Amino acid sequence: MAKKILKFGGTSVGTIERIQHVANIIKKEYDSGSQIIAVVSAMSGKTNELINLSKNIANDFNKRELDVLLSSGEQVTCALLAGALIELKINAKSWLNWQIPILTEGEHSNARIVNMNLDKVNNFLKKGVAVIPGFQGISKNGDITTIGRGGSDATAVAIAKLFNADSCEIYTDVDGVFSTDPNKIPVAKKIEKISFDEMLELSSLGAKVMQSSAVQTAMMYDIPLEVRSTFTDRKGTKIFSQQNIDYTKSVTGVAYSKDDAKITLIGVEDKPGVAANIFEPLNKAQINVDMVIQNISSDQSTTDITFTIKRDVLKKTKEILESNQNIKYKDLTHNDKVAKISIVGAGMVSTPGVTYRMFRGLAEEQINILAISTSEIKLSVIIDEENTLNAVKKLHTIFELN
Ligand code: ADP
Ligand code: ASP
Ligand code: MG
Repeated sequence: MAKKILKFGGTSVGTIERIQHVANIIKKEYDSGSQIIAVVSAMSGKTNELINLSKNIANDFNKRELDVLLSSGEQVTCALLAGALIELKINAKSWLNWQIPILTEGEHSNARIVNMNLDKVNNFLKKGVAVIPGFQGISKNGDITTIGRGGSDATAVAIAKLFNADSCEIYTDVDGVFSTDPNKIPVAKKIEKISFDEMLELSSLGAKVMQSSAVQTAMMYDIPLEVRSTFTDRKGTKIFSQQNIDYTKSVTGVAYSKDDAKITLIGVEDKPGVAANIFEPLNKAQINVDMVIQNISSDQSTTDITFTIKRDVLKKTKEILESNQNIKYKDLTHNDKVAKISIVGAGMVSTPGVTYRMFRGLAEEQINILAISTSEIKLSVIIDEENTLNAVKKLHTIFELN
């Protein structure tokens, strides 16, 4: 009997009608003889609504209580879906994080699943469908935790791993993984197959169709995934290891994100140890620096250093740079109206000229590149935020993804 994990995202369970539709999808799979664990997100918009509620109490609402609050979104859909299945005469039952339990480690809002005891669920599967909330867990101390935005994907993959599932299907509001966000660039094309590595890059660089830590776990344990639509019967996108894919194109997809900020330190002394002095206190404060550029100095004694960080730590980063006595510079400028545009493709390794074509294309659109970073299968640039869609469209055309 095949064991299947079916995960349904927020839009898929966004209304009562949609929950009933999801119950019918599950019924079909169940009736064809599979054992089913359904993993659900909160109704679309619910998590944001709860975050906003907490902000009415305090901007930095207590983290423990925030997790208690946010986990309620998934509790609602879990019960509604189990109820809808029962109405279809299917024996169904929901379990919350602490009832299983789903054990997590790490800080509130950003915990990670480390184990779960699936005995109860396993026993129940012989006679019915189990419904489990995504996004939440419980710490060693018994506190409710959440595992990061979009985390229901990670719950589904963790369950697939611990359950030794035969398949893990991610049902969402688009037909699969596209060459870029189909809701922003309508000529985007669905990708039939994509490797874990490429999907991990795309997700980390802004393609929120799959949460990046879920892809990372799937890659680590070689758990194939399928992303498909809740609302159509079309074939989705298969995500698996690279040896199953023939590359005909250099670039597989274009991703973008608008959550970075750029800082430039002007007139930094050009001598050994200065960069370390700048980045060490940032590292201590757990601020992740992404791209770094050091200009060649014109007067041989000073230089400018530009780097990017996440936008939400801009204020904290500036405070550290401005208050640390070991960091000396003439001026500090920042820009938080920037976007990161990335091309991703395992085919890039064997295709010369990808970098040049990307830069030439952006130049043709009069788009200035503010920072660059590369890896074997991706190339990212920072540009002004207002040029985002233009840049994505241009790169999509240049690399023949339309
Ligand atoms: P769910 O609630 O089902 O988890 P998400 O909103 O997290 O769904 O992810 C689906 C959304 O991801 C799509 O509606 C789409 O706008 C966006 N998206 C961004 N990049 C891509 C891409 N490359 N392919 C498909 N969807 C993408
Ligand atoms: N409800 C959570 C969120 O909005 C988790 C998820 O949808 O995957 O981030
Ligand atoms: Mg999601």
